Amino acid sequence: MIIDLRSDTVTKPSKGMLDAMFSAQVGDDVFGEDANVNALEEKATNLFGKEAALFCPSGTMTNQIAIKVHTQPGDEVLCDVTAHVYNYEGGGISYNSGAQAKLIQGDRGRISAEQIQESINPTYDWLTNTSLVCLENTANRAGGSYYSLQQMQELNEVCRKNNLTIHLDGARIFNAIVEAGYPPIKVGNCFDSISICLSKGLGAPVGSLLIGDKEFIRKARRVRKVFGGGMRQAGFLAAAGIYALDNNIDRLAEDHLRAKQLAATLHSLSFIDNVLPVETNIIIFNLAAKINPEVFIQKLADRNIKAVGFGKQAIRFVTHLDFTDDMLAQVELVLKNIN
Ligand SMILES: *Cc1c(COP(=O)(O)O)cnc(C)c1O
Repeated sequence: MIIDLRSDTVTKPSKGMLDAMFSAQVGDDVFGEDANVNALEEKATNLFGKEAALFCPSGTMTNQIAIKVHTQPGDEVLCDVTAHVYNYEGGGISYNSGAQAKLIQGDRGRISAEQIQESINPTYDWLTNTSLVCLENTANRAGGSYYSLQQMQELNEVCRKNNLTIHLDGARIFNAIVEAGYPPIKVGNCFDSISICLSKGLGAPVGSLLIGDKEFIRKARRVRKVFGGGMRQAGFLAAAGIYALDNNIDRLAEDHLRAKQLAATLHSLSFIDNVLPVETNIIIFNLAAKINPEVFIQKLADRNIKAVGFGKQAIRFVTHLDFTDDMLAQVELVLKNIN
């Protein structure tokens, strides 16, 4: 048994999901003729109470399309220092949009309305035009922390007051929704655009959606084509996405429970210095200084457990759909006996 805790992207489609995929009726989505893609887009639109949605191959693409549509070259994008849009998208903010980022030191990945207010440039010719705010919920690099609904509402307010657009990198928004218990429609109200991933905790093999108003999605559809993301018989993938939204949201609570249990075990181990607070399905912990993280990861690998280093002494575990209670017990056993 291989236990893969590197990411929640490692899941394989279940039998039910595969059945849905293989029985999909498909068409050419560049012509707008794939019934499953259209149904998935409509489902996501309604879920968040917006006007339209766009199916894309990855969350990097949905984020980058959003940034492209919301900004002009030379603009400034405000985001947390740990943000995926800044750290893990290949420099896309500048590469694709000719914009730059101003990084904000948030509270474990979460920036506040006051911080946004303080970071907006006045309108002098020589200053960069602040135009977009990107939030990440849950925050990945920061350990799966999530925003409260009130925090998101305050951020929306400060953006509207200052004529900024606000985008949500919601690669793991369903983890936040399940844990915090806020309705998706209320989340939708807080943002001009939302990116969601089907290929993370929801267990689909491929796919993300960009959600917003009609005019925004019309522009996004053009940019998707330019970025090479126009897909043809994408309904096989969209069928997996529909299955994921229908079946795999509520069960994320199990992933959170297992993550918290695993964190409690990690707390009890002498060779672990600290564990970041676990709010959803991501566990980041720091090994004691005397432990070499590469050796530690190799020892886990020798015992069929895959994990990734997260800088310096930090290791990340992510729980997911294919991580069972038996696997949890096995990981705990290995950790208690590793030396
Ligand atoms: C995974 C992830 C994305 C998108 O990643 P892709 O691999 O391109 O789908 C975006 N934002 C966050 C926070 C992520 O964790």
